[in-house]
Formats: sequence, structure tokens, C-alpha cells
Amino acid sequence: MHRALLTRFTRPSTALWLSRREPFRKVTQPFSSFPSTLDHSQSPSAFISDKRYGKEHTSDEIMSFIDRYQRDEVKDYQMSAWLMAVCLKGMTPEETAALTKCMVMSGDIADLSDVPGTSVDKHSTGGVGDKISLILAPLVASFGLVVPMMSGRGLGHTGGTLDKLDSIPGFSCDLDMNNFKKILRTVGVAMISPAGDMAPVDKRIYALRDVTSTVRAIPLQTSSIMCKKLAENPESLVLDVKFGSGAFNHEVEESIELAKSMVEAGEGDNKQTTAFITSMDEPIGWAVGNWNEIHESIQVLSNENNPLSADLVDLVVVQCGQMLLQGGVASDLAEGIAMAKENLKNGKALAKFHEMVEAQGGSLEAVKDPKSYPAAKHKIEVTSTRSGHVSAIDALAVGLVGVDLGAGRQFVEDDVDFSAGIELLKKTGDKVSEGDVLAILSTNRDGVGKVGAQKVEGAYKVDEAVPTPRQLITNIVRKGGLVEAFDSSLLK
Ligand code: URA
Repeated sequence: MHRALLTRFTRPSTALWLSRREPFRKVTQPFSSFPSTLDHSQSPSAFISDKRYGKEHTSDEIMSFIDRYQRDEVKDYQMSAWLMAVCLKGMTPEETAALTKCMVMSGDIADLSDVPGTSVDKHSTGGVGDKISLILAPLVASFGLVVPMMSGRGLGHTGGTLDKLDSIPGFSCDLDMNNFKKILRTVGVAMISPAGDMAPVDKRIYALRDVTSTVRAIPLQTSSIMCKKLAENPESLVLDVKFGSGAFNHEVEESIELAKSMVEAGEGDNKQTTAFITSMDEPIGWAVGNWNEIHESIQVLSNENNPLSADLVDLVVVQCGQMLLQGGVASDLAEGIAMAKENLKNGKALAKFHEMVEAQGGSLEAVKDPKSYPAAKHKIEVTSTRSGHVSAIDALAVGLVGVDLGAGRQFVEDDVDFSAGIELLKKTGDKVSEGDVLAILSTNRDGVGKVGAQKVEGAYKVDEAVPTPRQLITNIVRKGGLVEAFDSSLLK
């Protein structure tokens, strides 16, 4: 499917096309930066036993265990036992920081010292319709800050930024470190898959966590997410930690705990780190998929003011405001938000997005005329069986339908269909009458549309009463475990 789409577009000859076969040049401190004098006298089973009985490890003990795991002297079954002990007994912030540091040190660390400018990046814990980075990264770069963004692919109900970017004909996310830095120097923003061998121990540990029911543990989530961001090495970080049906953590309290832990890990590495706690109960904006999410991002960058994208715009301008503040461009969050809105209006963010797309080999033809993109074979309308007001749209249910339609992956090796997805025509708070179209599904798969439509209809909750508006951003989490309520008047 992807290949077929690509043949419709020609890759611009002037673009800086970057081959994925270029050799990787190590620009980093290798794993051997672990001290050679590390004390390895504690046996793996004694280390596991300490955690089993709730003892706090020292940094050196954690470093030794990870070092020996990397060299296959600690076995997968021992690592798995320790991971389960961590799930049951937890870790202190100091232990989490030490584990994160070891995972960063397990591989390449980007050296951005020869890229002029202040660098700032953002990370989201992921959600349904989460295309914030696609708008935010060029928007922040349009103020002269450097945004060295490395992202992931989608798995399960949440989409991945890289899959969305891959839907742009010709666009390459697979750049080596030299080409990544070349684009950062000229354009100020590049969005790629992790270059080189970053945090390799996380890949092995994550694979074990996935099959041993040890994914959901705050210290393990923190170290796994933050090691990749810290290896990417920006000067500061903004985190979007989501809660709700479409998020990793359903409860706001759990997300606040994760955010506190992630902020401490970032600050422990001397990077100013701030987290926003944001609701992921309803898909963000109107598009769920890949190309349609690029389309919605282009609309926002073009200042089209589609009311269905109101939540998306709020999330973008707040995170941009914070990044401008941390990058020394704005003097406070309110000023940063105002500046963000201005560059969405005046076309500077859109121009930066075009520059980035060209630099990474993408065709501007489709980006400048999103409706020219090949449509999926089937379009299925989802109609309302009730009249009233939309009071909720279950993000998880919508995300799972997206996977069934071909827009996401069930398994890492699955292909993604860039034209598949869901267009939401009604959002929470909207009035609906029986028979109104709530959403439109697009797919190239035969025989999945009818069931998908039933599931999306079931994801919409329609009540007579007008719902109380939900709070999209609930808190800000700062260094030292400081949790503040978010002041929604900043968005007025
Ligand atoms: N994403 C990661 O990379 N790791 C986790 O543990 C959870 C989400």
C-alpha cells in the first residue's frame, strides 16, 4: 500500500535526500564510560533478593547489575525476576535516577555541542489522535530554538509520530546523526527515529517487560521513557503525561506520580524538565490515523480555525509556551502562549514545517494540497442513533478501531495503511440529532467497516444534558515534586 502511494509522487530532486545506508558515526561516549573499577562482587541473586525484601540499592549496585546484563553475565531470567521485584517493592527516586542513567550510558548519546542555538524537546506518553509534535516542533523552531526530536512508531491503540510522518510521500525519518545535525543547523528542527544505538539495554528490558507483566511500574516506565530522551540530549524538556481511557495510565493520580518521577530523572541529568498532565479521554482533534493527522496538522499550521481542532490547538500553544520559556525566548508562560498563537497565525510555523519536510526528502505537493492524497477504497459513515449532546468519546475504543481499519499496528512487524483512519465530525459538547453523521471511517480493508462503525457509534456517549466542559490540562509538575493546578484562564 505504502509503495503504491509513493509512486504517485516524485521525490523533489533539490531535497536533501538522506540515505539510510550511510554508516553511523559514533558521536558519543560509548558504554565503556561505566567505570572499569565497578565492584561486581554482589551476585545477581543477592541483588534480586535485596529488592525482593524491599532494600534500597546503591547506584553502584544498579550500575554493576546493568553492566553485567549488557555483557550477558546477568541472564534474562534474572533480569525478569528483578523487574518483578521492582514492580512489587518499588524504587526510590535515587534508584530510579541511577537506573535511568545506566540505561542512557548503555549506548550512544547525541553530542549536539556543534549545533548552535538552545535546544528543547518534548515527549508525550502517547494517545489517540496525538499529532501535537507535528505542529509543535516546527512552531517552536520558528522562534529560532533547536528541536532535535526523536520519536517512535505506533503500537496498539496509540499512533506513532514516525508513522504519521512516513505518510508524507518521500519523507525519511531514518537519518544518521550527521544528517540529523546538518538539518538542525540549517532548519532548526528534524523529526527522526532514534539515530545510532541509543539506550540498547532498554530495548532488551522492554521486550522482557512486555511478556512478564512488568510494564506498568513507575520506576521502570520512567527509566524506559527518559533514557531515550536523555540520550537524545536536548538542553531542556517538556513532557505531556496523559491520563484517561486512551492513555497508558487511566487515573490522573497515577499520571502525576509518573510525571514527578520523569521530571526528577530529567532534572537529575541537569535538564530543566516540566510536565503537563493532560486528559486523553477523548481523541485529540478530528483526525485519527496517519495521513489524516498530517492533514489536520497542516490545517492548524495554516490557522484554519477548525473548531474540531480546538483541544489540539490548546495543547500545542501551552506546550510551545513552556518550551519558549525554557528556551529563554518568552519571559513567562502567558507570553509564550501568545507568541505561539502569533506564529500559527502569521504563517511562520507553516513555513518551518515546509522547510523540515523538504530537508527530510518529503514532497510538498501533497502537503500543500492535502486533499490530493489518495483516498482509501472504503468510506463508512457512522450515524447517531440518539439525539442530545455528545458527553464523551471513548478514546481507547476509537484507537482500537483505527488499528482494525489498518491505521495502526497490532504487532511491531505489521504494515500501516496511511490512508486508513477515522474522521470525527462531532466532539464532546456538540449537539446531535438521530441520523447525524458522527464520524467517517476510511479503510482499504474489506469487511471491517461495518463492525468498526458499530464500535465507533458505541464509543460516542450521547446524553440529553449539556455536559460540563472537561479540563484538558489539569496540572503542571515541576522539579522537586511540585504539583500545581493548571490555570485554564491562560487559554482564554
Ligand atoms: N514507553 C516506553 O518507551 N517505555 C515504557 O515503559 C512505557 C512507554
